[in-house]
Amino acid sequence: MAMEKLIAQHWYRRERIRDDLYLITEPHYTWENRANLWLILGRDANLLIDAGLGVSSLKLHLADTLDKPLKVVASHVHFDHCGCCHEFDEVFIHEAEHQALTQGDQRLMLATPEFNYTPARDFYQLPYQGFSAENYSVKACPQAQKIQHGDIFDLGDKAFEVMHLPGHSSGSIGLMKSDHKQFFSGDVVYDGELLDKLEDSAIPNYIESMSKLLSMRPEEVRPGHYESFDTRKLHTLISDYLAANKAPLCPSERR
Ligand SMILES: [Zn+2]
Ligand SMILES: [Zn+2]
Repeated sequence: MAMEKLIAQHWYRRERIRDDLYLITEPHYTWENRANLWLILGRDANLLIDAGLGVSSLKLHLADTLDKPLKVVASHVHFDHCGCCHEFDEVFIHEAEHQALTQGDQRLMLATPEFNYTPARDFYQLPYQGFSAENYSVKACPQAQKIQHGDIFDLGDKAFEVMHLPGHSSGSIGLMKSDHKQFFSGDVVYDGELLDKLEDSAIPNYIESMSKLLSMRPEEVRPGHYESFDTRKLHTLISDYLAANKAPLCPSERR
């Protein structure tokens, strides 16, 4: 008989990075696919980058931060980043994936059963009694608003600019702090296997996005998965990707 899984007492874990930056994760879900949700506290508003799987209320978890307006921005439409978007009033996503989020397109969210990206074994504990991974889906977020390259999230004492960096998916973005010292990279770059063969991926676009990023030198990169890193690591990860995906050049360069 299979062992019954426990019901998690606390679905989310919140870790203070510094006074105005928190990392929220879902520790009872597989580390391999567990997203980093970044909460940035500002003078006039707070910003949440990504909204998790959607299996437990993130709004409830964030109740203590709702004294100020909360803007929720999705780095892209994949299920591990967009699950709880529907709970919030002010939600933003790149225009290329806006329809997928507002209509709850499970295919573009990678949440349909045939993809099997959320098998039962990936949940170490369950978010609630009666949860079934087989019936997992992401709720549509009809109130989501469109953003595009160059848009600014101004929190009063700090601001972040949207960079459209397609490739992993068509609407993937990163957010660069206005002083260019801090970069939230979503699934564009993280210290793990980068995925460029998904439903809505495009390698030529990914190469272009990575090439653009090579000119940036943020001191601190806060990715959509795994550990944070510095400029040096960012450039290594980008260079490795570009080297592995370099298009065939002229015949004399082929070996
Ligand atoms: Zn993704
Ligand atoms: Zn992801």
